[in-house]
Amino acid sequence: MRKPKIVIIGAGYGGLMTTVRLQKLIGVNEADIVLINKNDYHYETTWLHEASAGTLHHDKVRYDIRDVIDRSKVDFVQDTVVEINKEAKKVILEKGEVEYDYLVIALGGESETFGIKGLKEYAFGITNVNSSRQLREHIEYQFATYNMEEEKNDNRLVLVVGGAGFTGIEFLGELTNRIPELCHEYDVDYHKVKIICVEAAPTVLPGFDPELVNYAVSQLERKGVEFLIGTAIKEATPDSIIVGKGEEEPREIKAGTVVWAAGVRGNSIIEKSGFEAMRGRVKVQLDLRVPGFDDVFIIGDSSLVINEEINRPYPPTAQIAMQQGEVVARNIAALIRNKTELETFTFDNKGTVCSLGEDDAIGVVFGKKITGAKAAFMKKVVDNRSLFMIGGAGLVLKKGKFKIF
Ligand code: FAD
Ligand code: NAD
Repeated sequence: MRKPKIVIIGAGYGGLMTTVRLQKLIGVNEADIVLINKNDYHYETTWLHEASAGTLHHDKVRYDIRDVIDRSKVDFVQDTVVEINKEAKKVILEKGEVEYDYLVIALGGESETFGIKGLKEYAFGITNVNSSRQLREHIEYQFATYNMEEEKNDNRLVLVVGGAGFTGIEFLGELTNRIPELCHEYDVDYHKVKIICVEAAPTVLPGFDPELVNYAVSQLERKGVEFLIGTAIKEATPDSIIVGKGEEEPREIKAGTVVWAAGVRGNSIIEKSGFEAMRGRVKVQLDLRVPGFDDVFIIGDSSLVINEEINRPYPPTAQIAMQQGEVVARNIAALIRNKTELETFTFDNKGTVCSLGEDDAIGVVFGKKITGAKAAFMKKVVDNRSLFMIGGAGLVLKKGKFKIF
């Protein structure tokens, strides 16, 4: 009898978790497993703010996919998914195509620019290793160029971060630690540097604990960040952004670096492949399958799961993507063993820790609020835990974070 073929697309948190769990759960004679990813490496998306600010080298945030998969059970294909033909049960790749019996879509998310003019062209994003490396290089270029010019252009030293969600705040935490190093390295007066964070909502980190938000804001302000709250980015130009606040006349802020960290959407492959989606995210069934497609699972940032307590979608996180990966692995193992009862996914929220730089953070863990060094330590525990869950103690030793203050 022909073995069923399980194809997993995307080797981020959700896809890798599915793969490493499946390779443990099923035998070589039970099914073929194929993992497809654009790069031959996995990157820790949750560490990209560090690589972007230059506080952590980008090689520290990635590792070889082949190091964590069981190559006797999983066939790894490095290629880019172009489209999914769900009727023909095929994944179309840049260099070929692959048929499947069961498909796990774990392609992650993309930056959401809401159609705002100029953002795609002129703002930097924190989305993958390439974009992080480019942003770090760009900031460094601005500092390196500043003293080369006879007529000093102070705007080179203005950095704007759009969005004070978790990504924007974590990046600001790293940036404020990196700036003094850059000033020292490039002989730039620290007082000339301006860091501005523009947030459309009436508060930083909308929806998060107000006491922790106040702590984060005061720590970042102390390190030189100016917050423009209730102010939206309306446009980006090659050397500025246009911002608007309520009824006020929009104004221009000249800036050498603009970072867009104001939202994510599902992967565009989802809509391109004809799945019914909201901003690229598919509302999946409780067993994580796509309604109407019993052989297709979607997890991670391209999926949408409702938090029944508040009747709103859970925010897309690595935590949820990994938990979904575990459930999908068990559900696929059940399906290939002809079981019809599938497990229902329920999110087990372990908490949230938002870093404010290597030495500081805020968080709510198991319902308890934490700040400062304790929270920063907890952030490292969370980071190491995700390495452990995918690659065991060996990966933690190789890539883990151990510096304690
Ligand atoms: P990803 O982990 O993004 O993986 C997607 C994979 O698919 C990637 O390997 C990518 O290369 C691949 N891929 C994409 N398109 C294609 C294609 N066309 N063909 C082939 N391969 C493709 N969440 C938390 O829970 N805790 C945190 O502390 C946290 N911190 C964050 C910090 C930052 C700076 C950011 C940006 C996000 C953070 N998040 C955090 C959110 C979290 O990173 C995401 O929710 C998580 O990465 C989603 O996992 P995923 O498996 O869906 O996708
Ligand atoms: P987000 O959607 O959570 O926050 C985006 C912010 O940008 C919002 O505060 C929004 O009001 C603001 N915004 C939107 N349009 C704007 C505009 N035109 N001008 C100015 N501000 C604007 O996005 P994110 O911070 O990238 O987070 C994405 C996901 O990743 C979330 O689910 C988040 O929970 C998760 N994440 C988690 C962590 C963590 O747990 N430590 C870290 C980073 C990201």
